[in-house]
Amino acid sequence: MRVIVIGGGIAGTAAALGLHKAGFDVSVYEAHPDGAEDIGAFLTLASNGMRALAALGASAAVTAIGYPLTTLRVLDSSGIEAAHAPLGESGDPLLRYRCLRRGELNAALQAEVARRGISIRHGARLASVEEGHAAVTAHFTGGGTATGDLLVGADGLRSTVRRLIAPGVEPRHAGERVFYGYATRPVPAGAPETITMVRGSAAAFGCTASPTGETYWFARVAGEPASADEIAKSTPARWRELLVELLRKDAGPAAGIVAATGERIMVTGATEMPLGTPWRSGRALIVGDAAHAASPATGQGASMALEDAVVLAKAVRDTPDTGSALALYETLRRPRVEYNITASGRISRGAAAPPGSGRGKPARRPGDDELIRLLAWNADIRTTSAHGGGGG
Ligand SMILES: Cc1cc2nc3c(=O)[nH]c(=O)nc-3n(C[C@H](O)[C@H](O)[C@H](O)COP(=O)(O)OP(=O)(O)OC[C@H]3O[C@@H](n4cnc5c(N)ncnc54)[C@H](O)[C@@H]3O)c2cc1C
Repeated sequence: MRVIVIGGGIAGTAAALGLHKAGFDVSVYEAHPDGAEDIGAFLTLASNGMRALAALGASAAVTAIGYPLTTLRVLDSSGIEAAHAPLGESGDPLLRYRCLRRGELNAALQAEVARRGISIRHGARLASVEEGHAAVTAHFTGGGTATGDLLVGADGLRSTVRRLIAPGVEPRHAGERVFYGYATRPVPAGAPETITMVRGSAAAFGCTASPTGETYWFARVAGEPASADEIAKSTPARWRELLVELLRKDAGPAAGIVAATGERIMVTGATEMPLGTPWRSGRALIVGDAAHAASPATGQGASMALEDAVVLAKAVRDTPDTGSALALYETLRRPRVEYNITASGRISRGAAAPPGSGRGKPARRPGDDELIRLLAWNADIRTTSAHGGGGG
């Protein structure tokens, strides 16, 4: 089986690692000429994402970069500690949360793809897909084609593959702006390996102190997306000023950390895919953000993309044909990732956290009870599907 993967981001590289590990002939096509598109923000990989990486045999590539997070601290708007708890599977060095720059993670996964001898072509932007009876062909801008038995669209939020599978279905704004920054002046950002979340009155704020002395922070603020004009006219200093004004309303470290940030402030809108977005057509399937982008509130986008990779590879490996593999993949993945879209969107729009998520503990999600078995590389995926992938 020849597999064409469109997109060399987190979902695409991970899918390539999984499908290659399962014994298939995989090639990755990435539009960006060098690495992958990088908006410069950081992200956290949660324990479920780290478990998926372990199943792909790619833990070492990722634990070599970034830094671990083992403790969650929650402060209320008066700066009082409302929760202090171990984060995820903090006792296991391979499964504990990890904080990484998105560009670094992409680069590490791309290097791992290349190290395993999987072909990755940069500067190859998909233009269209042609479905034949026995094969699928990708056409790239500026000429060039690739033909395979399966095409995996891992081309992110503005996916071209999705536009071909589900014309007219587009991501929508999830109710808030997200600011990211790196403070380099010393600020009290909490103990090492700790992520501090502040439930502020005007913003949800989070920060961690990196081992190199920087403070990584984000702030989620309710509102419409910044227009292209606003972004073009604004400077980091202007964003900083706006944010500090909002954060000053509360006690706690947030305003001081943002004030100690220089030019490295970014803003983006929270976006999500509508529920029920079609994911597949014939021999083409979308994964990762292309299929199920969620607002960043639950911090699960990258981890879900890594889970996708393991489930897809196992589904293709353990079923007799592509059609049944893609159908099984969708049955197993849709309840879980759509729950994440809904839960994350609710938080972004200011609703209370889902039931069961008190004291910093995440709510049980569909598929949580089955996850260890689902991601275990040697367990036949059909034995998991007997339980429908739901529950929990
Ligand atoms: C600001 C922000 C903060 C986030 N924080 C977190 C977090 O803390 N934790 C977490 O788990 N997730 C987080 N996420 C989500 C996470 O970044 C995404 O879920 C994840 O990057 C999705 O990976 P992907 O590979 O599906 O898409 P992408 O990372 O967008 O990769 C898509 C790739 O496809 C390429 N591409 C696009 N079009 C084409 C084409 N036509 N042909 C060929 N290649 C193409 C692009 O160049 C890109 O490299 C955050 C997202 C944002 C925006």
